[in-house]
Amino acid sequence: MTLEIFGIGEPAWRLTFFATIFLSLAVLELLHPRLERLELMRALKARRWFTNLSILVLSSLTLRMIFPAAATGVALFAGAHGYGLLPMLGLPPFVGGILVFVILDFAIWLEHVVFHKVPLFWRIHRVHHADTGLDLTTGLRFHPLEILLSILWKSAVILAIGAPAVSVLIFEIVLNGAAMFNHANLKLPARLDSLLRRLIVTPDMHSIHHSTEPEETGTNYGFSLSIWDRVFSTYRERSETSAGSHADRTCAVSQPMACAAALVAAASVSKGRMTRVSICRPGNSADRSRSADPCGTVPAKRDLSPASVRNHPCGS
Ligand SMILES: [Zn+2]
Repeated sequence: MTLEIFGIGEPAWRLTFFATIFLSLAVLELLHPRLERLELMRALKARRWFTNLSILVLSSLTLRMIFPAAATGVALFAGAHGYGLLPMLGLPPFVGGILVFVILDFAIWLEHVVFHKVPLFWRIHRVHHADTGLDLTTGLRFHPLEILLSILWKSAVILAIGAPAVSVLIFEIVLNGAAMFNHANLKLPARLDSLLRRLIVTPDMHSIHHSTEPEETGTNYGFSLSIWDRVFSTYRERSETSAGSHADRTCAVSQPMACAAALVAAASVSKGRMTRVSICRPGNSADRSRSADPCGTVPAKRDLSPASVRNHPCGS
């Protein structure tokens, strides 16, 4: 059971929007970067993008192999069998669509909180937080198991509310775009940022969630709508540990690992296989806040020579 709109299949719609949003944000990141750190430039950026996009391909292929029809297939199944609460309410399609979006967005917010609070799930989710930089590709970097658990959770919600397939497709496209946007290394004008934050999650807001400080990692869980963090008091306006410098805002520390390591670097994907996990060991908090590097051991700031990059502890 697969969704088609105007004769075009669901995967093609998703891919078209993904490519458009990805390319637009990639250009904007080059034009208006928020940070100009080593991890976001040249060789290390290329390595990070290769790793992150490899994880994306791996996760997407795993998902499509196990759930070929994806979330929209579940919605079509629910619709065909009359499952869920929404069809009983008889709401106009537009109102129903808004309601589906809000409910699914809350479900994703809740899922994100659970992935942080339950130690077993955090072990999976920290692959996302272990990125040594923060840009649009971080928003695509999720462990295949997290993607599989997420589709199971979303499917349960879709079945319970009887979400129409088109509404689910729109939600998925927006969620994917929002994830790339709120992780983007993009500097928005302050007034625009505060205006957008009233409704949606901005890059500056979500960057606090990727702080190295555990108490900041436990804030700003939202992906699309910013309302949930405000309602459940997990909203944080700005980082209080880095004084707005953004210098200390990547590679979050897991609570159990706080004394042992500041980040688990990417499970590097090479030649289609997970090959290794490297652990960077930072200096103390004060050292980290002075350093432009999340590992606290950065080579000279502008030293981008191959040797320097090769020796960088997070570079592989
Ligand atoms: Zn998170």
